[in-house]
Amino acid sequence: MKKNCLEIVRSKCESCKACALAKTRTNVVFSDGNPSTAKIVLIGEAPGETEDLTGVPFVGRAGQLLNEFLENAGISREDDLYMINTVKCRPPENRVPTDEEKAACRKFLNAQIDIINPKAIILCGATALKEFYPTDKKTTISKLRGQWLDINVDGKDYKAMAIFHPSYLLRDHSLKETSPRTLTARDLAEIKAAYLSDNEIVIDQNAENIFACV
Ligand code: SF4
Repeated sequence: MKKNCLEIVRSKCESCKACALAKTRTNVVFSDGNPSTAKIVLIGEAPGETEDLTGVPFVGRAGQLLNEFLENAGISREDDLYMINTVKCRPPENRVPTDEEKAACRKFLNAQIDIINPKAIILCGATALKEFYPTDKKTTISKLRGQWLDINVDGKDYKAMAIFHPSYLLRDHSLKETSPRTLTARDLAEIKAAYLSDNEIVIDQNAENIFACV
């Protein structure tokens, strides 16, 4: 059922010309993961060069690094996650998608989330965070990552956690206790414990986050 609904959305997406990115894309990058088993939707920023060429999200260098982090956390990319981006077509030179492009593509994103109906959402990087949890300019992903956030998508409430984007982790190799890589490993461990373990913990918004570090 989910697969059939998603195929309808995919076919509309693949012929979409609602924003300027349609002119420069090689492929629409719709999703990756198993809709039947995925409990969590992971939302990134936009397809990069390798994603544009293959039509699959998170397969370039950043995607390979994300795979390592997921594997170390015991999260299965194939079974636990449904991976998408805020826009389905690659912005030229990997620039950040514009507000207009994100708005034009939002209907596909909303439909995918609604169909998957995930237990939680991972907002991977600042662009995804801002799209679903608007904040003032001073509030960065460094301040919000690792916390359970309440977000609303098309009238439905979800728990969400922001994590650093793997392309940011590619630029910072530090493994110090407060480094982005260490914090990301902790965030993924919390997500695993909360929603992907046999003994899921109950998320209490008022309780101190067990891995709150920043
Ligand atoms: S980015 Fe989204 S809205 Fe823009 S052309 Fe691609 S599918 Fe359509």
